[in-house]
Amino acid sequence: MADSHNCGYVALIAERKMRLVLLGPPGIGKGTQAGILAGEYGILHLSTGDILRSEIDRKTALGILAKPYIDKGRLVPDETMLDLMTRRLEQKDVLDGYILDGFPRTLPQGTGLQQILGKLSQELTSVLALEGDMETIVERLSGRRTCRNCGTIAHVIHHPPKIDGVCDRCGGELYQRDDDRPDVIRERIEVYQRQTEPLMEYYSKNSLLKKISGKGTVEEITDNIIRVIPK
Ligand code: ADP
Ligand code: ZN
Repeated sequence: MADSHNCGYVALIAERKMRLVLLGPPGIGKGTQAGILAGEYGILHLSTGDILRSEIDRKTALGILAKPYIDKGRLVPDETMLDLMTRRLEQKDVLDGYILDGFPRTLPQGTGLQQILGKLSQELTSVLALEGDMETIVERLSGRRTCRNCGTIAHVIHHPPKIDGVCDRCGGELYQRDDDRPDVIRERIEVYQRQTEPLMEYYSKNSLLKKISGKGTVEEITDNIIRVIPK
């Protein structure tokens, strides 16, 4: 009796945790905003792009599988991503809440995520969709530099590091991702329109979806996002 009472209590607490999904085209600033929001709310920043790049650096089986897709600007197969995220979301550190950055990215990943959450008795707090025009996106991606060590994002014009080529946060090396080069950028935008945009409709069927303009300064966008997240 006492046990079942306890379980209910724990479930109630778990229910109040912030669980966010950040959607939006490549380059709109998902990674930057997800990092800030994770800090604001004390939740975990789960970036599938960062996870995959770390697997590639460590030459794991997953990294070796993912690399050719990423290099071409294509998506890693749904089955692989769902496998990865099922295992990730079963870990204890996600219990305090999280922001998903880069997942789900296709309709099958969206429905797969619902199944994973159902099994874990978790619900999403909000699905945040950053929107912006092509010009902004291409400009942001081509100037983007990423820290090899901690994944922090800089921009050569809008957000230059204090020391050229060095991460402000950890001192790691800033580099231009292979998939941030012009021909791959074009492919990624097409892939986004074809495979990720249908997710918007999926989430707009419930009231979880909140659309936010991805224009403006980093701080302005953060403010706009925080304003639409239920307290
Ligand atoms: P961006 O959002 O700027 O495109 P990410 O770092 O999120 O960059 O992703 C980089 C690449 O990693 C994608 O182009 C894709 O190849 C792969 N990837 C990341 N997340 C997923 C996912 N959920 N499903 C399939 N592929 C993914
Ligand atoms: Zn760093």
